[in-house]
Amino acid sequence: MSQATEYIKEVRATLAQRDGNQTEFLEAVDNFLATITPVFEAHPEYIEANILGRLTEPERAIQFRVPWVDDAGKVQINRGFRVQFNSAIGPYKGGLRFHPSVNLSVIKFLGFEQILKNSLTGLPIGGGKGGSDFDPKGKTDGEVMRFAQSFMTELQRHIGPDIDVPAGDIGVGGREIGYLFGQYKRLNGFSGGILTGKGLSYGGSLARSEATGFGLLYYVDAMLKAHRDDLSGKKVKLSGAGNVAIYAIQKATELGAKVVTVSDSDGYIYDEQGIDYKIVKQIKEVERGRISEYAKRVSTAQYSTGSVWEAPVDCDLALPSATQNEIDADGAKLLVAGGAKLVAEGANMPSTPEAIKVYRQAGLLYGPAKAANAGGVAVSALEMSQNSQRLSWSFADVDQRLQKIMQDIFEESADAAKQFNLGDDYVAGANIAGFLKVADAMYAQGI
Ligand code: GLU
Repeated sequence: MSQATEYIKEVRATLAQRDGNQTEFLEAVDNFLATITPVFEAHPEYIEANILGRLTEPERAIQFRVPWVDDAGKVQINRGFRVQFNSAIGPYKGGLRFHPSVNLSVIKFLGFEQILKNSLTGLPIGGGKGGSDFDPKGKTDGEVMRFAQSFMTELQRHIGPDIDVPAGDIGVGGREIGYLFGQYKRLNGFSGGILTGKGLSYGGSLARSEATGFGLLYYVDAMLKAHRDDLSGKKVKLSGAGNVAIYAIQKATELGAKVVTVSDSDGYIYDEQGIDYKIVKQIKEVERGRISEYAKRVSTAQYSTGSVWEAPVDCDLALPSATQNEIDADGAKLLVAGGAKLVAEGANMPSTPEAIKVYRQAGLLYGPAKAANAGGVAVSALEMSQNSQRLSWSFADVDQRLQKIMQDIFEESADAAKQFNLGDDYVAGANIAGFLKVADAMYAQGI
């Protein structure tokens, strides 16, 4: 066994002891560890400085009580988190997720991914993530506001434009960011740079809403072009109906592809004619309804309950854009059987390790989340730049920068894979390219 292999095993054993019950976090770390040996073989000094042991332990993990009063006058308690994972290359940066499945393991997996994703954008942002087990589904605006205010009353003491800059994630969109921002301002005064994903009237960036979905398609486009192909005429199986999915459908359609599915946690829509993102946006973001509603408005659409990945829908490309571990081995096999040639992840870690094995065996082109969905956080970093400059850039300007960032991410990942003789392994490429910059900064800054 090489020194690098032995070192990685040792770090993993410590993690198993310390965080053995944090399954999502360990899954994310294992996906990374499976690809990173060549870097430690080339850099024995990183072993000596125990960079991996330090990378996998958050700099700080904050957990707090979030009391709030519901519409019936009952006092509710939720749990809040902010994990400030790594600040080697910039202030902590990453979203807040409000969903009943949130716990320390989920936030740590997301925060860990964020370190490498943020590094890949080429912008100076470290990795962090936060959230709560609060479920916005079925809550009134007033309840969401009171919850968000209570959440920020605690969070505000831990964040700042040069310290930690949260944004949205699942369950946290424009409405929630507005309430969070308002509470920060009430307590500390106006500071544009404390959150990203803000409304355009108070310091938000044009193209931030579109950024993750558009970026996903720019990444896919770069990947296809590298294989002398493009998006025109491609049939796409997509999951989710949130911010990522909506704008992924828009950009895929603009680039000549046809998205035939869209889903939420109850079921999915299939429409051979292609999904209209505007209707999805109206149902999910304006009416806050269920995706089943789509079939009532579009005569060619069919609604079914269950997972879209269990549906035998033929496609050329798959864009999982809902949540973690949504595709298992069976879902992946169905994709291969249905003719899929490419999977790119709009959600964070949507493929289980078994699904990834199936992609690999079938030789699919596979764009992992930390590269493919980095457009959202990239434009968040551009929002931070605009806030610092007290300027607003045009939509076209931000969109052009986003396109270039996504192309660069693809190329850097492909180059890193090539440099370590890993062929078209874009997972290893993304992990290595993201890690090298963070490791270099950690090493330079000492222990
Ligand atoms: N939640 C998004 C992500 O997973 C964006 C985070 C941000 O904009 O800070 O990358």
